[in-house]
Amino acid sequence: MSPAYTTREQYERWHKRDCARCGRHGSFAARWPDGHVCRTCHDRALQQRGRCPNCSTDRILPGLRTDDGAAICPDCAGFTMSYACSRCGREAKLHGGRRCTRCTLADRLGELLDDGTGRVQPRLAPLAEHLLGMDNPLSGLAWLSYGRHPAADLLRGLGSGEIPLTHDAFRTLQPWRAAAHLRELLMACGLLPVVDKQILLFERWLHEHLAGLADPEHAQILRRFATWNVLPRLRARADARPLTPAGRGYAGEQIIQATALLRWLAERGRTLADCTQADVELWHVEHATSANANLRQFLLWAAKTRLTRRFDLPPTASPCGKPLPEHDRTALLGQVLTDRTGPLRSRAAAAILLLYAQPVSRITRLTIDDIIRDGGQVLLRLGDPPSPMPEPVADLLFEYLGQRTNMRTATNRDSRWLFPGRRAGEPLQPSTLSTLVQTLGVPSITARAAAIRQHVLDLPAPIVASALGYHQVTTARLAAEAGTTWANYATGE
Ligand SMILES: [Zn+2]
Ligand SMILES: [Zn+2]
Ligand SMILES: [Zn+2]
Repeated sequence: MSPAYTTREQYERWHKRDCARCGRHGSFAARWPDGHVCRTCHDRALQQRGRCPNCSTDRILPGLRTDDGAAICPDCAGFTMSYACSRCGREAKLHGGRRCTRCTLADRLGELLDDGTGRVQPRLAPLAEHLLGMDNPLSGLAWLSYGRHPAADLLRGLGSGEIPLTHDAFRTLQPWRAAAHLRELLMACGLLPVVDKQILLFERWLHEHLAGLADPEHAQILRRFATWNVLPRLRARADARPLTPAGRGYAGEQIIQATALLRWLAERGRTLADCTQADVELWHVEHATSANANLRQFLLWAAKTRLTRRFDLPPTASPCGKPLPEHDRTALLGQVLTDRTGPLRSRAAAAILLLYAQPVSRITRLTIDDIIRDGGQVLLRLGDPPSPMPEPVADLLFEYLGQRTNMRTATNRDSRWLFPGRRAGEPLQPSTLSTLVQTLGVPSITARAAAIRQHVLDLPAPIVASALGYHQVTTARLAAEAGTTWANYATGE
């Protein structure tokens, strides 16, 4: 027999027994008159309290009456040890120094919340009272002894004043689980104002989301957006009624889409500051309706705080990502060409929009030199090569060319812009053009998505991209969405 085995056997003989109450073999907590008892049976028996059936005193009843197994008091059961707390005298499970759980917890809190003068920091007294008043002080004690004592460290920080008693301080505290629990306790005992749980969860998520971003400038913009726009709206709603997880998810989605936009711009070598109307429109064509709806708040906020210029955003009422059905587009084009009641300028712009799928911002940059006569054919230079223009549209454009608006001012007389603006030397504002087109009943962004979808159904995506000056990835994705057989051309290699 090896010496190690002998040691193990000795250990087992001294420290392990069959429990007299549950029969399990294991380490025992005490030796009582009815035999050795395990930790579980020991703790459970000491929680029993009431009138002893033998002597009628009101106290703990951990003993067992031999004849019927009724719970009786320690004296009647013949216990040799006392379970009276050495501090408060109450009978209960005892810890170090023969103190009950509540007295042990009070000692632990006194030590952790010490303000440096040997007493609990007076401001934190309600927290200590709250913890000591719990039905099960043992869980409080366990919480403060758990693992590497993260909760204990947080309490110590509060006691010393290193952690200020504010929601702000708790937003970034780690580890978050212990911090979140402590924050709930502080709200429960009135030391912190009550905040909706969904807001707390959102804030923690936001903190982690921002910490995970590679670009510190993106994180800074998004933090401002969350602080000055998303959170105030959440708080206002929480004031009316408790928030739902869905409400929190919606707020998170706004941050996620704003993050995606910043990243998307960065991939194009742009920042939010030089994001153009064309970029916004391209984004709307490339992204799903839900993503666009979730981005709206961010773009409105960015324009309001002058981080960007003002954008012409699709109305929320009609979902912007849903392309105009092809027959609607053809019908609209026919109406624009034949119905002469609308202003000529608006009709010309709408025709280009419906036919060529151009962002309004690009239509405003067209010059009269972009309309090319090539023998019997008329071409519009939007990309390379120029795109052919069907006769009815060419007729409309030439009619318009003869009477361009905003040409009266001296400086604008020689303007080459196809759509001269009111300001000298400048084309029309894209938002103005967009409004003109919309007045005719042509939704500028949905119409554009519809037009390019039809183009990609007719031609390989790379050819459409090059002819219309479109970003290749966009056309490739639209081709894939439209399910064309051309999708395999789309890599453009
Ligand atoms: Zn047991
Ligand atoms: Zn008794
Ligand atoms: Zn006690």
